[in-house]
Amino acid sequence: CGIVGYVGHRQALDVVLGGLRRMEYRGYDSAGVAVLDGAGELTVERKAGRLANLEGALAEHGLDRFAGTAGMGHTRWATHGAPIDRNSHPHRDASQRVAVVHNGIIENFAALRAELEADGVEMTSDTDTETAAHLVARAYADGPTAGDLPASVRAVCRRLEGAFTLVVTHADQPDMIVAARRSSPLVVGVGEGEHFVASDVSAFIEHTREAVELGQDQVVVITREGYDISDFAGEPAQGKPFTVNWDL
Ligand code: GLU
Repeated sequence: CGIVGYVGHRQALDVVLGGLRRMEYRGYDSAGVAVLDGAGELTVERKAGRLANLEGALAEHGLDRFAGTAGMGHTRWATHGAPIDRNSHPHRDASQRVAVVHNGIIENFAALRAELEADGVEMTSDTDTETAAHLVARAYADGPTAGDLPASVRAVCRRLEGAFTLVVTHADQPDMIVAARRSSPLVVGVGEGEHFVASDVSAFIEHTREAVELGQDQVVVITREGYDISDFAGEPAQGKPFTVNWDL
């Protein structure tokens, strides 16, 4: 299982698929990608099975649909819900404007799911992860964090129990990717005019060797120009910078 996110000047799909391939050794049962284009279109493809299945589906639907310079990818090791297409990540909210990938387990997902369902939300998967997509969409749509994606992600993280690396995109915010971690790995890759997030430096090592390891309960926002780390309360926070000086 692995996660990769990218914002920069290259085609995100190429970077993300390259990163997923580099993390294949971690093992997985499904894979998926989301790409954001500058016009605010969010396009998702996901498939059970090998990366080759995903690549086949991408080719079938026409690779030009996946043009864009921000995106993310996921390899899944199923914990909640069978390894089938509709449980594969990314997961989206009902508006399909928000996409989330997740490694780990959201322990209190049953309570969150019941709360969402009581409020009329229809679940489209059996995963714990899908709750996070709905919660972020709602936090972004309304209330104290409306229109602020990092603040929405932080607010949702404060409600989640368990272990997670999350990467979140919103079609309204095509220039940023937001990622968060608790008890699950997350590293930022610092390039020139491009930034990466991943569960493992191997995902971006062919593009940059400058990395920052996030601490426990931190959120990072990456854009083309830079990255910004905060804790779940929104206070500025620091990661641990390092240079990858080994070969993979
Ligand atoms: N718990 C999530 C699921 O089953 C994520 C699993 C993973 O770490 O890949 O979909």
